[in-house]
Amino acid sequence: FASTNKEYRVMNKKYLAHNYATAEPIIARAQGSWMWDVEGKKYLDFHSGYCAANQGHSHPKIVEALVKQASICATPSRAFDNDKAAEYGELVSKTFGYDKLLPSSSGVEACESAVKLARRWGYVVKGVPDNCAEVLFPKGCFWGRSIAAISGCDDPVRYEGFGPLAPGFPLVEYDNLDALEKKLKSNPNIVAYMAEPIQGEGGVIMPADNYLSEAQKLCKKYNVLMISDEIQAGLGRAGKLLCAHNTEGYRPDIVTLGKSTSGGLLPLSMILADDDIMLTIKPGEHGNTFGGNALACAVGKAALEVILDEDLCQRSVDSGSFLLSELNKLDHPLVREARGKALFCSLELSQKGIGTKFTKALNFNGLACKNTHDNIIRLAPPLNTSKEDLTLGVEIIHKTLKEF
Ligand code: PLP
Repeated sequence: FASTNKEYRVMNKKYLAHNYATAEPIIARAQGSWMWDVEGKKYLDFHSGYCAANQGHSHPKIVEALVKQASICATPSRAFDNDKAAEYGELVSKTFGYDKLLPSSSGVEACESAVKLARRWGYVVKGVPDNCAEVLFPKGCFWGRSIAAISGCDDPVRYEGFGPLAPGFPLVEYDNLDALEKKLKSNPNIVAYMAEPIQGEGGVIMPADNYLSEAQKLCKKYNVLMISDEIQAGLGRAGKLLCAHNTEGYRPDIVTLGKSTSGGLLPLSMILADDDIMLTIKPGEHGNTFGGNALACAVGKAALEVILDEDLCQRSVDSGSFLLSELNKLDHPLVREARGKALFCSLELSQKGIGTKFTKALNFNGLACKNTHDNIIRLAPPLNTSKEDLTLGVEIIHKTLKEF
C-alpha cells in the first residue's frame, strides 16, 4: 500500500492524465486554512483551491448541509423541479439582485451558458443576423478549457494543438477604453463583452477604477451586454459579494459565479441575469444533468449563508489590507510588486523564469500556493484565515526569499 508522497506521486503519474504541473505534496486532508499531506506535514493554504474554498476547507456548516441533503435527495433530474433549487434560487435572487439564476456545475460551463444566453439575446432582441453573433473578450482573460473558452483567449499554451477553434470570439486589450470603443463601433454583430473584473489567472490584474463602469457605458451605446466573469473574483474574494460592486455605477447584465458557490465541496456554478435576458432561452433549448440538483443547491445555500453570516466580505477587506501592508514590508530584490484587492493578492517577482522554483520552495517551507504567468504568485487564503496565520504566511515568504 502507498503511504508516502513519493509513492502516491508514482501512482498519480501512472494512472492520471498529465494535464497539470502539480506540486510535490500529495494532499490527504484540508480543514479551514490548513492542508496536510499523506505524510502528515501541514501547509498553510494561500491558494484556497483556486479560490473554491473562500469559506475555508470543509466548513462545518456546509459539510452538515451536504451530509444531511445527501441522504434525503441528491439528483432527482431536471425533468422534475426540486424544493432545494427553489429555496436556493430565492436566496440567490434576493442576495445578488438579479431576477433569475441558471445553475450548472463547472465554471467554464457557466461561462459557456453566458455566451449562449448573450448570443440568443443578440438574435432575439438586438436583431443580429443568424449565426453572426460575436462575444468580445479581453486579452489576458481566462474562462476555462472548453473549445469555446480556448477560442476566446490569447494564450497559445491553451489553444495550440487543439484546433479547429470556434469562431466568433474577438479579443480586445484589457483596461483600454479607446480600443474597446473601436471594436464595438466597427462590429455591429458583437452582442456582449465578457470580462473578469480582476483578471485572476492573468496575474491578479486590476483595471483602472472607472474602467468597468465606462466600459458598460460604451456597451450600452452600442447595444452590447456586459458580462462579469466572477468565477474567481466574486463571493467575497475581492471584498464584495460581486467584485463588480467595487465599481460604482457598474451593474453587469449577466454574471457568472462558480468555485466558492459551494465552498469547494462539490461543483456548482451559475449565471445570473434579469428576465428580459434570461427568458430568451426557452424550455428544452439549454441544460445539463447536474445543474440545479437538490444536493448542490442545499450545499450552495449553506455556502452563501456562511459568507453572509460570517461577514466574509468585510473580513476579506480587513485581512487583505493587513496582508498587503505586510507584503509591502518585504524588502528583497526579488520582489517587484505586491498588489491586490481585499484577499485577492499576488506577489510579482522581478526575475522571469523563477516562479515555479520559488513556488516549490514556498511549498517546501509549508505555504501552499501556485504561481501564474511564471513569476506571479497568487496569494488567496480562505477569507476567514486568522491574523496569526496571515502573519505566518508572510514569514514563510520572507524566509523563502532569503533562500534565493
Ligand atoms: N472563469 C474564471 C475567471 C476562472 O478563473 C476560471 C477558473 O479558474 C473559470 C472561468 C473556469 O472555471 P472551471 O475551472 O471551474 O471550469
